[in-house]
Amino acid sequence: MTWTRWPWRATIRECTLRGHLSQSEARRTGHSDCSKPQKTTQVVPAKLKITRLEAFQVPIPLKSPVQHASFTRTHNDTLIVRCELSDGSVGWGEGLPRTYVTGESIESVWRHLEATDFQPLCGPVLGAPADVVRLLDDFQLAEVAADEGVTPRECFGNAVRCGLELSLLDATGHSWQSSVGELIARLPQAEGLTQRRSHVRYSGVATASTGLRQWRTAMKMRLYGFHQVKVKVGTDGVDDVQFCRRLRRVVGAGVDLRLDVNEAWSPDDVVERLRLLSCFQITSVEQPVCHQHVDRLAEIRPQTSVPIMLDESLCSLEDARRAILVGSCDLFNLRVSKCGGLITCLRLAALARQHQLGIQLGCQVGETGILSAAGRQFACTVGNLRYLEGSYDGFLVKERLTRQNLTIQYGGRAPQLTGCGLGVTVDERRVRQLAESRLRLI
Ligand SMILES: [Mg+2]
Repeated sequence: MTWTRWPWRATIRECTLRGHLSQSEARRTGHSDCSKPQKTTQVVPAKLKITRLEAFQVPIPLKSPVQHASFTRTHNDTLIVRCELSDGSVGWGEGLPRTYVTGESIESVWRHLEATDFQPLCGPVLGAPADVVRLLDDFQLAEVAADEGVTPRECFGNAVRCGLELSLLDATGHSWQSSVGELIARLPQAEGLTQRRSHVRYSGVATASTGLRQWRTAMKMRLYGFHQVKVKVGTDGVDDVQFCRRLRRVVGAGVDLRLDVNEAWSPDDVVERLRLLSCFQITSVEQPVCHQHVDRLAEIRPQTSVPIMLDESLCSLEDARRAILVGSCDLFNLRVSKCGGLITCLRLAALARQHQLGIQLGCQVGETGILSAAGRQFACTVGNLRYLEGSYDGFLVKERLTRQNLTIQYGGRAPQLTGCGLGVTVDERRVRQLAESRLRLI
């Protein structure tokens, strides 16, 4: 194998030089606290194998119920994956199953974990990020039944794929002393997409509410200084025109407002509903109809000036190719867990670029610091993100599982994570304390 040059030497070396931790301790704990990067001449990456893989089912309660047109959520059943490599490096991943998005539940996740043979992951030696991609591309989950009433698509299993991929990228990042953002930027899949940034700005999200709560939500969006706000519409009992009017009045003309319908509208109503709302300078509408009717958006698009984004109908490369073929959208919403990890998100972003479509990096309600960190790594690595969502941990979850608090700051601003791997330190003791189930995969 030829090796050229790693641009950054990061956390572990700094920590060990400062005498905080021994090198093996820093790798074992996934330590990422000292994060100031330094230029280096050359670091030869270790040749690695996966030696241990564990899965945990961790219930993550939300601070308050979150409602949208498809669901009201009080907690998440979260999949957490721990990966250990032959040099002792440890990485962590997270997957959030959603029945109405990828057809997965925590029960189907567990069926996948129990039925799949993970031993093939132990064979190949990993010497570069491309080896990680090859390993994951060659790996197949077992075929298992979906829950009753669910018709599985290609994305069935993506929460497991995401947890596995993130844990492996995090672990190799610790070993190779590089952030996950730097690792994925070196992949051929990232060619033409990368734009490294030291800071990013996230959108605010205004969830459905009625009466005085609408004014309160609008004031929060203004006081927090968001430059973009996504409005959840289509919820029963909520007057969306009134909600948007109040939001626009409070946040002012300079804030970018967009809609997320969460599949609630009938295809026959989309044009009229957008006509009523477009006077509030709406810049896009996300998933206006349910997946079953998604192809009808191709005939709706020419009838409205509001760009259409796919979310629930955009969970895999197959979904994306179908959308491009029929012309059903203007934008993709990439969410790391529903898409099966960062590498598929890169491929989807490349496809969008090739076909002049826009992209949003989205998130799922109740992500812990692990998925927030993964999103941050992507956001600070990939350019031309029309909108950015995520890092709401401090507002939404009671357990973030990471030592670092990644919650967005005023204006939705957040810095690049410059530590090794995902750039966060997972509280392993807390994961094991909270876990309702655990499974040794390797
Ligand atoms: Mg959505």
